[in-house]
Amino acid sequence: MRAVITGGAGFLGSHLCDLMIEKGWGILCLDNLATGSEANIAHLRENPRFEFKRHDVTKHIEVPGAVDAVFHFASPASPPDYLKLPIQTLKVGSLGTHNCLGLALAKKAKFFMASTSECYGDPDVSPQPESYWGHVNQVGPRGVYDEAKRFSEALTMAYHRYHGLDTRIVRIFNTYGPRMRLNDGRALPNFLYQALAGEPITVYGDGSQTRSFCYVSDLLDGIYRLFESNEHDPVNIGNPHEITIHEFAERVRALVGANVPIVFHPLPQDDPKQRCPDISKAKRILHWEPQVDLAEGLRRTYDYFRKKLAESNQAR
Ligand code: UDP
Repeated sequence: MRAVITGGAGFLGSHLCDLMIEKGWGILCLDNLATGSEANIAHLRENPRFEFKRHDVTKHIEVPGAVDAVFHFASPASPPDYLKLPIQTLKVGSLGTHNCLGLALAKKAKFFMASTSECYGDPDVSPQPESYWGHVNQVGPRGVYDEAKRFSEALTMAYHRYHGLDTRIVRIFNTYGPRMRLNDGRALPNFLYQALAGEPITVYGDGSQTRSFCYVSDLLDGIYRLFESNEHDPVNIGNPHEITIHEFAERVRALVGANVPIVFHPLPQDDPKQRCPDISKAKRILHWEPQVDLAEGLRRTYDYFRKKLAESNQAR
C-alpha cells in the first residue's frame, strides 16, 4: 500500500509519515518546504519505503504508479506563518486541495483532509461540536486560513457526494510536541523558547483566552482511527482539557524553572477567545480519547526544544 502525504516535511505531516511507515505503507512525501523542514524527515531518507519530492501542490501533481491514499496536510498552520503567507495559504487550501482530490480520484485512492478548529472561527458555542457552523471573519487576517480550510471541507464533501470518492475530514485542534519549529510563533514554541533563552514570556491580551492542547501522539492515534473508519463527515480530534493562555504560560515557566517575567502584548485581531473540542463523536465512533496529559506532553516537548536549542547554539 502506498500513500501520498502532502506537507509531509511539516510538524504533523512528518509524524504521519512515521506512523504510516510503521503501519507498513510506502510513502511519497510532497512538500515545498515553505514552512516544513527536511530535518523532520532526515531519519526516513534511507528507508526504501520512503520517497521525498520537493513540490508545490498548488501546481499539478504527477505521481507515476499506484496510490492507495492521499493525505492532504500541506499548509502554513501557525497564525504568524499564514499572516506572512496569506496568498499561499489560500492557494494550498483551494488549488492544492483540488489537485489532491483530483489525484485521489484518478488513482481511486482514499482521500484524507487535514482540517482545523479554525473552521469554528471565534466560536460563540463552547465546547465546539462538529455540528456547529462557526463564527469566522472571512475578511479578517485569519480568514485566509479559516476560509481555505472551510473551502477544502466543502470541496472534499462535493467529491465524496458527486464522484463517490472515499473521503475523511479531521478537524485538528491545537497540537504540540517535538518537531514544532522553535520560531513558528505559536504560543507553546514562543513560551518554551523564551523561558529557555531567559527572555520575558509574551502573553497576548490579558491571557484569559483559552485553548486546549493535544499531544502529537494522541492526535496521530485519532487520525489513524479516523482513516480506518467509515466516517465521511468531519470529526474533531483534540484534547478537551481547556486552559487559559496565562495559566499555560505559568505552566511552561514553572517547567523550565526560569526566573523570567510574563509580559502582556496586544491581542492579535480576531484571536479566538475560547477553544475546546467536543470529542463525544470521536469517543463514540473511533473509541478515541487523549492519553497524554499536559504535564507529560510538556516534559517531552521541553526535552526536544532543549536539545534543538543546544544544537543551534553549537552550530553558531
Ligand atoms: N499567544 C500568546 N503569546 C505568544 C503566542 C501566542 O499569548 O507569544 C496566544 C495567542 O494570542 C492565542 C493563543 O496564545 O490566544 C494560542 O495561539 P497560537 O498561535 O498557538 O495558536 P491559535 O490557537 O491562535 O491558532
